[in-house]
Amino acid sequence: MTAVSAAVASSWINGAPVHTAGPLHTVINPADGAAVAQLSLATPADVDIAVASARTALPEWSRATPAQRSSVLATLAELMEANAAVFIAEEVSQTGKPVRLATEFDVPGSIDNVAFFAGAARHLEGKASAEYSGDHTSSIRREAVGVVATITPWNYPLQMAVWKVIPALAAGCAVVIKPAELTPLTTLTLARLATEAGLPDGVLNVVTGAGHDVGTALAGHPDVDVVTFTGSTPVGRKVMAAAATHGHRTQLELGGKAPFVVFDDADLDAAVQGAVAASLINSGQDCTAATRAIVARDLYDDFVAGVGEVMSSIVVGDPSDPDTDLGPLISFAHRAKVAGMVERAPGQGGRVVTGGVAPELPGAFYRPTLIADVAEDSEVYRDEIFGPVLTVRAFDGDDDALRQANDTDYGLAASAWTRDVYRAQRASREIKAGCVWINDHIPIISEMPHGGVGASGFGKDMSDYSFEEYLTIKHVMSDITAVADKDWHRTIFIKR
Ligand code: NAD
Repeated sequence: MTAVSAAVASSWINGAPVHTAGPLHTVINPADGAAVAQLSLATPADVDIAVASARTALPEWSRATPAQRSSVLATLAELMEANAAVFIAEEVSQTGKPVRLATEFDVPGSIDNVAFFAGAARHLEGKASAEYSGDHTSSIRREAVGVVATITPWNYPLQMAVWKVIPALAAGCAVVIKPAELTPLTTLTLARLATEAGLPDGVLNVVTGAGHDVGTALAGHPDVDVVTFTGSTPVGRKVMAAAATHGHRTQLELGGKAPFVVFDDADLDAAVQGAVAASLINSGQDCTAATRAIVARDLYDDFVAGVGEVMSSIVVGDPSDPDTDLGPLISFAHRAKVAGMVERAPGQGGRVVTGGVAPELPGAFYRPTLIADVAEDSEVYRDEIFGPVLTVRAFDGDDDALRQANDTDYGLAASAWTRDVYRAQRASREIKAGCVWINDHIPIISEMPHGGVGASGFGKDMSDYSFEEYLTIKHVMSDITAVADKDWHRTIFIKR
């Protein structure tokens, strides 16, 4: 594994790289512990500079025509395509994700999202234009909300940055983004390419740094208009509290604990393969990953045996090898958290069918793990593990299946596996989640929204729906009578 860059600028402010004066930070490859890059992190004072730079750039960018904004985003998508290899190398080194995943999912998905918003930028319009009062024409203006502060996690660094930044830019906002300190590289590259694509200086700024200082300073900054966040539920709530001190709007994409419901008429082979893919994607560090398989009792033993068998065949190892299926977790600290939860599971009724161990490899690897018979009150069943771990429980009857599916505070994603159209319709209606897949689990698409309910947050990324986070609605009511002495004035004062 080779380092992709030795000393990178730590932030991108006002259209240029900036070497900030915060603590020195080394980006580590979790597959082998090698140093990938070194950078001095930003400080809260740099956050002030970045926000001021966004504030200065905002008027011109928000007044650019939709066609001008679209053109910059279309060029950015082309530049990203041309630099796909750079993004892939950075993403693989800083996260340890398999190169196949970065090549076939993270990078093309991000480029497609930018291309989608290049088009969507030209379709923004207000709805009403009519004489509702009889004496006025009402119209709706949807205007850029202003300066957006956004904070992103380490699991899909490029995709999460794109999901937050690009609709904001398409809507005419200026942005300051803080990527996770473990994985800043692709966000910095995105900002550099955006400037190359013609984005005016200051419209997109990146400040790197830890959550407790730079993140806190950004979330609670008085001069931003909206705070958007993707990350864990506890931190999301802190971000919301910080934003609330100034009454700022927030959008939160938080954790998940997705149910994977297999009814007794399901295609068992499809469900088994789907469960393995949906629980192991990105080493299970995916907020929508299948984590709670809830399986009809008649299929339970075959499902457990099938998933256990496929999981045992998964190739764990060097993420830069195209034959590798599963890379490491993001860090040794995170692996210790995952391993601890799995080790405590048998004491809470769970049966480890396969995995539950770290392979003999130098990085933060953990074997695909299946835990059957988990109790409803057990930690592995209730809390987000964020590792390659699937739990399984049996259900008796459809009511019980849907009750178990909804027995969580989270509500990000879910799937139902059945060949019965009525069951599928009932499951899609009754499961509390931002997305319900039928006979699949994981696929996403730029045209459709992503976002949760309950402890998974609120608001949407991707699709036209995400514009609602970055636009304000203004009602313009224009008198069309040209009469000075208006009837309604008599309600206020009598003409004497
Ligand atoms: P995290 O909450 O620990 O960190 C997310 C970001 O917040 C990082 O940039 C971090 O530096 C910053 N941060 C930490 N403390 C902060 C504070 N007090 N104030 C401001 N910022 C602060 O999450 P993570 O470990 O990076 O990512 C994993 C989590 O993200 C999981 O819970 C996962 O489910 C969630 N996630 C959700 C979605 C979604 O779309 N719902 C997508 C990806 C990841």
